[in-house]
Amino acid sequence: DKLKAGLEKTRKSFTEKIEQLVIGYATIDDEFLDDLEAVLLSADVGVATTSKLMAEIRKGIKDKLINSPDDLKPFLQEKISAMLVGQSPAEAAHNPPTVILVVGVNGVGKTTTIGKLASYYCENGKKVLLAAGDTFRAAAIDQIEIWGQRTGTEVIKHAEGSDPAAVAFDAVQAAKARKADMVIIDTAGRLHTKSNLMEELKKINRVIAKEIADAPHETLLVLDATTGQNAINQAKLFGDAVKLSGVVLTKLDGTAKGGVVIAINNELDLPVKWVGVGEGVNDLRPFVAADFAAALFA
Ligand code: GDP
Repeated sequence: DKLKAGLEKTRKSFTEKIEQLVIGYATIDDEFLDDLEAVLLSADVGVATTSKLMAEIRKGIKDKLINSPDDLKPFLQEKISAMLVGQSPAEAAHNPPTVILVVGVNGVGKTTTIGKLASYYCENGKKVLLAAGDTFRAAAIDQIEIWGQRTGTEVIKHAEGSDPAAVAFDAVQAAKARKADMVIIDTAGRLHTKSNLMEELKKINRVIAKEIADAPHETLLVLDATTGQNAINQAKLFGDAVKLSGVVLTKLDGTAKGGVVIAINNELDLPVKWVGVGEGVNDLRPFVAADFAAALFA
C-alpha cells in the first residue's frame, strides 16, 4: 500500500542497514553497538531518542533478551512501536463547527495538506469550510481557492494583506451560519518575521476562542519529513506560541528521514496525527502507530 511504498527509502536506510549489520557481526560487541547507533542517527531518529533506544538495547543484552545480533530487529521493532503514541485526528465536535487551525513554515506542504484534509472530511460526509488565513501572499489565497474548487469546498477569503484574525473570525461565523461541520484555517508561515507570526497566531486563537469557547479544537503543525531534525526545531518554536494538538508529517514518500516520526513522538510529546505520502488529494493517511512500525520493519 501507499504507506509502505512511502516508507521505502526510510526502510532502506534503516531496516536494511540493521539487517546488514546483523549479517556482518557474529556477536554483539562495542563495535556492533557503535555501528547500530550510527544507523539510528542516519535515519533521523535523533540524538535523544537514539540514546534512549541504545540504553534499552544495552539493558536487553544485560537481561539476556538479546543474545545475538539476530535478536535485535524484533527487539527494536517492539521498543519503537511502544514509543509511538497513536492518537486519532479530530472528528466532528458535539457542537459543530469543529475548528482546525493549520500552522507551519512555508513550503512544508501546508496548503496541500489543507486540501487533502478538506477532501478527507468531505468524503466522510462532512460539510467543510476553508479559510484563506495566509493573507501575506496572494499566491497562498489563490492556492487555497484551487483546493476549494477541487474539493467542492467554500473558501472564506479577504484581500491580500488583510488581518488574518479577521479572516478566521469570518470563517467561524460563516461556518456557524451555514451549519458546517468543520472549518479548516490556513495561516501564514513566514518564519523570518518570527515574533510577528507568533503574535498573529495568538490573535487568531483569541478571536476563535471568543466565538467558540473550546476552539480551536485542533491545532495541527505541518512538518516536512525531508527536513529531518530541523522539523523538531520548528515544532519547539511553534509550540512556544500556540498550543499544538498534533503533527502532520508530509513528504514521507521521497525521504530516508522517516525516523523523525519516532523523534517527534519521543522528544516532543506531540502525537503525529497524519502522514503525507504523496502529492495527490488522497495521499494523506491518519497515523496509526502499529501500521507505521510494521511498515518500517516490513
Ligand atoms: P506550503 O507552502 O506549506 O503551503 O506548501 P505546499 O502545500 O504548496 O506544498 C509544497 C510542495 O510540496 C508542493 O509541490 C506539494 O505538492 C508538495 N507536497 C506536499 N505534501 C506532500 C507529500 O506528502 N508528499 C510529496 N511528495 N509532496 C508533497
